[in-house]
Amino acid sequence: MAVVEMKNMLEEARKGKYAVGAFNCFNIEMVQGIIAAAEEKKYPLILPLAESHIKFSDWELISYIMKNQAKKASVPIALQLDHAKKVETIEKAIEAGFSTVMFDGYELPFEEKIHQTRDIVEMAHRHGVLVEAPLGKIGTVGKEAEAKYDHDAVTDPELVEEFTTKTGVDILAVSVGTIHGRAAGESHLDYDRLQKICDRTNVYISLHGGSGVADDSYRRAIDIGVEKISIFTRVSTAAVNEIANVLENGRMRFPELLVEAKKGVTAEVEHLIDIFSNR
Ligand SMILES: [Zn+2]
Repeated sequence: MAVVEMKNMLEEARKGKYAVGAFNCFNIEMVQGIIAAAEEKKYPLILPLAESHIKFSDWELISYIMKNQAKKASVPIALQLDHAKKVETIEKAIEAGFSTVMFDGYELPFEEKIHQTRDIVEMAHRHGVLVEAPLGKIGTVGKEAEAKYDHDAVTDPELVEEFTTKTGVDILAVSVGTIHGRAAGESHLDYDRLQKICDRTNVYISLHGGSGVADDSYRRAIDIGVEKISIFTRVSTAAVNEIANVLENGRMRFPELLVEAKKGVTAEVEHLIDIFSNR
């Protein structure tokens, strides 16, 4: 997908007051399950692959599957490299034709973060690829150092204008109370902070760790100005629950487990699309 289409996707979301879902994949069942939901709901979406999830398959294989299935889809599907720290992986994603890459330099000192992010933006824009970057720390449940909602690490609205202007990023991932890996309803969004962030920039705003957000809280975040919501845990848990159901019923056929897992992915993504699209 060309950069124009990717920008259009986010611009339409902004105008229409809805959010584009970004549902993480890492294998064929996830890719097909997610795209099936988008087709059923006739809704464009972003298909991200996290750098840390490449190990679950193989770069050549998974990027081929993503490209192949996105091309065949009846709705626009934008491919994203998610949470990349290595320039080498970003180069591979650009070469593979991904529409957007996320450079995750959240742990860097502010000036260095600007410097490194700007370098990635210059490279990506030369190839017509959009760049997402975080400002503030979006932690992960289970990694103890990051597990708590850290008030020092949330996105500081006062730094937003400088960060977005100096780096030239297209999408800003904000830390306003969500954490990767949380169950639905456990995150408490800081709406005031989100509003202040949105007041200070015109770039698209992305919410990560969105699995922990309660269904009705998504609407409020979208109304304030979130155009992209990244979800992994909720969808992955739906797949696991389907597998558990099959096993509980004493059915032990491997293909059946995969088929049911895929159905679980589709059902959960359809549910989230209904919420994000405000239909
Ligand atoms: Zn994320």
